[in-house]
Amino acid sequence: MIRKFIQKVFKRKKTAVDSDNSNTLLHIIPVKQHGIHRKQISSCALKITQELQKSGFSAYIVGGAVRDLLLGREPKDFDVATNATPEQARSKFRRARIIGKRFRLVHVMCGPETVEVSTFRGPFPTNEKEQNSKNITDQHGRLLQDNIFGSQEEDALRRDFTMNALFYDPSSEEIHDYLNGYEDIDSKTLRIIGDPVKRYREDPVRMLRAVRLAAKLGMQIDPPTANAIGDLAPLLKNVPTARLFDEMLKLLLSGHSLACVVDLRARGLHHGLLPMLDVILEQPLGERFITLALKNTDDRLQQEKHVSPAFLFASLLWHEVLAGWKNYKINGDKPAIALFKAIDDVLATQQKNLAIPRRFSATIQEIWILQPRFESLVGRKPFRLLNHPRFRAAFDFMLLRSESGEISEDIALWWKNFIAANPDQREKMINKPSNHKKRRNRNRNRNKSVKRKSDSLEKSAT
Ligand code: ATP
Ligand code: MG
Repeated sequence: MIRKFIQKVFKRKKTAVDSDNSNTLLHIIPVKQHGIHRKQISSCALKITQELQKSGFSAYIVGGAVRDLLLGREPKDFDVATNATPEQARSKFRRARIIGKRFRLVHVMCGPETVEVSTFRGPFPTNEKEQNSKNITDQHGRLLQDNIFGSQEEDALRRDFTMNALFYDPSSEEIHDYLNGYEDIDSKTLRIIGDPVKRYREDPVRMLRAVRLAAKLGMQIDPPTANAIGDLAPLLKNVPTARLFDEMLKLLLSGHSLACVVDLRARGLHHGLLPMLDVILEQPLGERFITLALKNTDDRLQQEKHVSPAFLFASLLWHEVLAGWKNYKINGDKPAIALFKAIDDVLATQQKNLAIPRRFSATIQEIWILQPRFESLVGRKPFRLLNHPRFRAAFDFMLLRSESGEISEDIALWWKNFIAANPDQREKMINKPSNHKKRRNRNRNRNKSVKRKSDSLEKSAT
C-alpha cells in the first residue's frame, strides 16, 4: 500500500551510490503520507536545523527520533545530521562543543536539552592497506574511527539499520528515505544496511543494538540480519569495556530487559557480558531470581518509576556471589569473610568484562553486604539496618530473594510489618535481647561445662 503510494506520487531518484549490495533509491515522503509535523520536534532541534539551513547548510532530524515518531512513540532525544563540518556547526551556536574522538560530533545545548549534531559520514577506504596505514580498523575489521565526511546518501549507508536512516526536514516536513526504511518500519522489520557480516565486524555493538531495538520496538529481525549474529558474537570481546557497559545499561533500561536478556542468551551474545548467565539461568532459583528482577525493572519503567542501574547489576550477579560465598564457607572461611571474598571476585571479573563504574560498584557491594543482616532479628540490629542509607534498595533486593524462594517468606513478611509498625509495635516485634542473651549465656555455660568435662576426662585418661 505504502509502496504503491510512494511509487505513484513521489519522486524516485536512482542514486549513484551502490555499496555492499545496498541500492539507494531516494524516496521523498511528504507530511500528508507520514504525518510527522514540525511541532513534534523539540524546540532545540528545530532551532538548530533552522539556524544551519539559514547559513546555507542542509540539516535534518535523523535516526531514532524519526523512527520513534513514525512508530507513534515519544523520542528519547533528537539528533541532527548536517553537511556542515563539526567546526562550522559549532561556530553557529553559543553553547556548543565538539566531542568524541572515534566519532567527532557537536553537542549543542539549549536549556536542559542537548542535541547531537553530526556531520554526514562518508565511506571509509575499502582497501586494507589504506585502512591499516590510517589506523581506521583493527585486525578484526572493527572501525577505530569514523571521521570521514560524505554526502547525505553516503551518510544513510553508514548508519546501522534501515529504520534508523531516515532524514526529516523540519522546514519542508518531508522525509528522505534512501534505503526503504519507511517500509521496513511499516512492516516492523529490523534490517541491517549492507552486508551483515561486514557491518557487525566494523562495529560488533550493532549486534546488541539489533537485539535491544527489536525487543523495545516489537520488531522482527530480518533473517540475514539475525543469522550473522551467532557466529560473530565473540567479536564483542574486542569492544572497549566502557562502551559495552553503556550499551548493556541501555539494554537493561529499555523497559524490555527480560525479552532482551532472553534473546541475548538465545543468540549466544551474553558470554562476554554476563558470563555466568547460562549457568545461573539453568539453576531454577537463579532463573527465577533474574526473571523476577528484570520483570520488576520493566514494570517500574513502564510506570515511569525510577530504576537503579546498581540494583539491576546487583541482581544479575547475585547468584554468582552466592556460589562463591558458599565455596569460601565450605573452605573454612567465616560467613562474613566468605561473603566479602566472593563479592571481590565477582566485581573484579565484571570490572574486566563490563567496566562497571565505581559509583555503581559501591552501591552494588552495599546491597549485597546488607543481605545477611535481614536475617538477624534481635536487639537493635533491625533498627540499625532500617536507618541505613541503603536500606530501601537492600530491602527490595531481599524481597526478590524471598519471592524467588532463596530465603523464607516469613523474613520478608516480618520486615514488611516492621516497616509499617509504629515505634512501640517495633519494640514489641523484636526478640528481647535479654532473652536472647540469656539463651546465649545458657549455651555458653553449657558449652563451658561440656568442655570442662571433656578436659577432666582427658586429664584422667593421661
Ligand atoms: P535510542 O536512542 O532509542 O537508543 P537510536 O537509534 O536513536 O536509539 P542512538 O545511539 O541515539 O540510537 O543513535 C542515533 C543514530 O545514530 C541511530 O539511529 C543510527 O542512525 C546511528 N547509529 C547509532 N549507533 C550506530 C552504530 N553503532 N553504527 C551505525 N550507526 C549508528
Ligand atoms: Mg537516539
